[in-house]
Amino acid sequence: MTTVLPTVLPDALGDAAREFIAGTHDLLIGSERVQAADGRTFLTLDPASGREIATVPQGGAEDVARAVAAAREAFDGGPWASLAPSERGRLIGALADALEQRQEELAQIESLDNGKPVKLAQYVDVRGTVAHLRYFAGWPTKIEGSVLPVTAPNMLCYTRREPVGVCGQIVPWNFPLLMAAWKVAPALAAGCTIVLKPAEQTPLSALRLGELALEVGFPPGVLNVLTGDGETGAALVDHPDVDKISFTGSTVVGREIGAKAGRALKRVTLELGGKSPNVILPDADVEAAVAGSYQAIYFNSGQACNAGSRLFVPAERFDEVVGALAERAKATRLGAGLDPATQLGPLVSAEQHERVMSYIDAGRDQGAELLAGGGAALADSGGWFVEPTLFSSTSDDLRIVREEIFGPVLVASPYDTLEEVARRANDTDYGLAAGVWTRDVSSAHRLAAMLRAGSIYINHWGGSDPSAPFGGFKASGVGREHGHDGLDAYLETKTVWTSLG
Ligand code: ADP
Repeated sequence: MTTVLPTVLPDALGDAAREFIAGTHDLLIGSERVQAADGRTFLTLDPASGREIATVPQGGAEDVARAVAAAREAFDGGPWASLAPSERGRLIGALADALEQRQEELAQIESLDNGKPVKLAQYVDVRGTVAHLRYFAGWPTKIEGSVLPVTAPNMLCYTRREPVGVCGQIVPWNFPLLMAAWKVAPALAAGCTIVLKPAEQTPLSALRLGELALEVGFPPGVLNVLTGDGETGAALVDHPDVDKISFTGSTVVGREIGAKAGRALKRVTLELGGKSPNVILPDADVEAAVAGSYQAIYFNSGQACNAGSRLFVPAERFDEVVGALAERAKATRLGAGLDPATQLGPLVSAEQHERVMSYIDAGRDQGAELLAGGGAALADSGGWFVEPTLFSSTSDDLRIVREEIFGPVLVASPYDTLEEVARRANDTDYGLAAGVWTRDVSSAHRLAAMLRAGSIYINHWGGSDPSAPFGGFKASGVGREHGHDGLDAYLETKTVWTSLG
C-alpha cells in the first residue's frame, strides 16, 4: 500500500477555492448535506504531488436509495414538476451565471483535483460548462410536440415530449465538471431530476456544482450529488427506480452498464473510449498539421476520449512530420496544474500512471520505435507525470496501436494511398473521432464520408459546441450528447389520440 502524505494545499490556491477544499464534504441528497449512511469515506489526492486534498464520503447503496427517492419525489410532485418551462430555463441560466462568477475558484478546484493546467481548466472546463448550461437554458421553452395527419377520420392525434424521469448520471475524471454539465444541462432542460455521481479521483467540482444549484434556487431533489467509486455507480445503475442512465467512461464499464440497462429496459446513453485516427494528406499545411496533431494527442495529457492517438502521415513526408512533432514533444513544460507555466500536467492517478507506463513498455517490447519521451517525469515531486511520448510503427497490430491508452502517447505510421489510409484508420473497434489535414476540399470530404466516426475534424482537432452532436460509432458508445440529439435523449414521446366523435 502506498502511504498518502498529509494535506498541504498549494499556495497558488485562491481564498474561495481553499475554503471550499478545506471545508467538510457531504453527499447532497434532497435538501440535506449528509455523510454516507455507513460512515465510509475516501481521499481525493493531488496528482501533482500524490498528497491528500480532501476526505469525501463514499456513498453506499443506502445513500443511493435515499438520493433516488429524493429525485423521484422532486420529479413526481412538488415544485419542479409544476415549474413553468421559462422558470426552468431561468434557473439553468442562473446556475450558468453562478459558475461564471466563480470561474477562477472552480478552475483552481478542478486543476488541483485533476492535475490539469489551471488555464485549461478555466477556458475549456469551466467556460465550456457555462456555455453548455446557457445553451440548454434556452431549450425548455422550445420543447414541442406535433399534431399528426393521421388517416382515421374525426381523430385528433398529437405528441407530447415528456421528461424521461429520474436520471443516474455517472461521469469520469478527465473533465469532471464539463462531463457533468454535458449530462446535467440537457436533463434539467428536459425536466428530469438527477442523481449525479462524479469519479472517485475527482469528486470536488461536482459537489460545488450541486451546492450552487441549491443556492440559485433549484428545488431540493432536482440535482443530488453522490460521491463514491464504481460500487456507488453500480448501485445507481441497479436501482429499479432510475429511469435513465447516462455514462461517460471506459468501454469495459460502459458494456456492463449497457447490458444491465438492456435487461432492466432503462434508457441509456454511453460515451466511451476511442482510438481516433488523425490523417495528414500529402498536400496539407504541415506546420498547421503538426501543431494540431500535437494538440490532438497531448491536450489534457492525452486524457481525452477523442484524443487523436493514431497519426497517419504520407510516407514521403513522414520524417519531416514526426521530426517536427518530436521536437515539440521534447520542448513541452511539465508541471503542476496550478503553476501558470505548465503546459502538460500529471496523469490523474497512480493507477493511470502505471497503466500508461505499461503501454509504453509494451510499445518498446513489440518493436515500435521511440522518437520522443517514454519516461516518467518529475519523480521527486511525488506526482504522476509522463513525458509526452511519440512512437513510430509500420505495423497496425501492436497493442499501442489497437488499445486506448488514455495518456500522452502517440503512434505515427506512414501510408501510401487515400484508400489504404481510410481502411487502416477504420481498422479499430472504436469510432469516436477522426481528423483530416488537407488543402483539397474534395479529398477532405471524400475521407470524411469514408471514416467511421462520430466526429470528423478537418484542418483542426477537437471542435466542440453545445449545439453540435458528439458521440461514438461502434464501441465508442450509444447515443449522442449536445444539441437537439442531446436533449432528445432525455425525452419520451407520448402520442395522444382523441376521437372527436
Ligand atoms: P476509468 O477506468 O478511466 O477510471 P471508469 O469507466 O472505471 O473509467 O469510470 C468512469 C466512471 O464510472 C467513474 O465515475 C466510476 O466511479 C464509475 N464506475 C466504475 N465502475 C462502475 C460500475 N461497475 N458501474 C457504474 N459505474 C462505475
